[in-house]
Order: sequence, then C-alpha cells, then structure tokens
Amino acid sequence: MDNYKCKLCGKKLTNWKSIQRGFGPVCENKYLDDIYKNQQVTLYSILAEREKGGNNNGK
Ligand SMILES: [Zn+2]
Repeated sequence: MDNYKCKLCGKKLTNWKSIQRGFGPVCENKYLDDIYKNQQVTLYSILAEREKGGNNNGK
C-alpha cells in the first residue's frame, strides 16, 4: 500500500499531497505545464470538431 510512485519520474512519493496528485512537486510543474499545452490543443480540437458537425455537443 505504500507503493506510491511519481507518474513522471517513478520516484517514491512520501508527501500525502504528492501521493494524491500522483507526482512529486517538481514534476507537478512539468505535468501542469503539459496539461496546459494539451488543453490548448484540445480547445482547438473542439473548435475544429464544432466546425465539422458539432451536433452532439451541449444538448
Ligand atoms: Zn517525479
């Protein structure tokens, strides 16, 4: 049960906060940065999707 490791670097996590997040504080910045980039990509994807058909989004 104490086998918590960072999802990014595989380092053992000792802080409960880090365990809940799944990665250490150092990797958190990288992870959040990655999410931010992905969100931007996703946003564009959504816009493109809407332009294509977009009939099952929302209602
Ligand atoms: Zn890490």
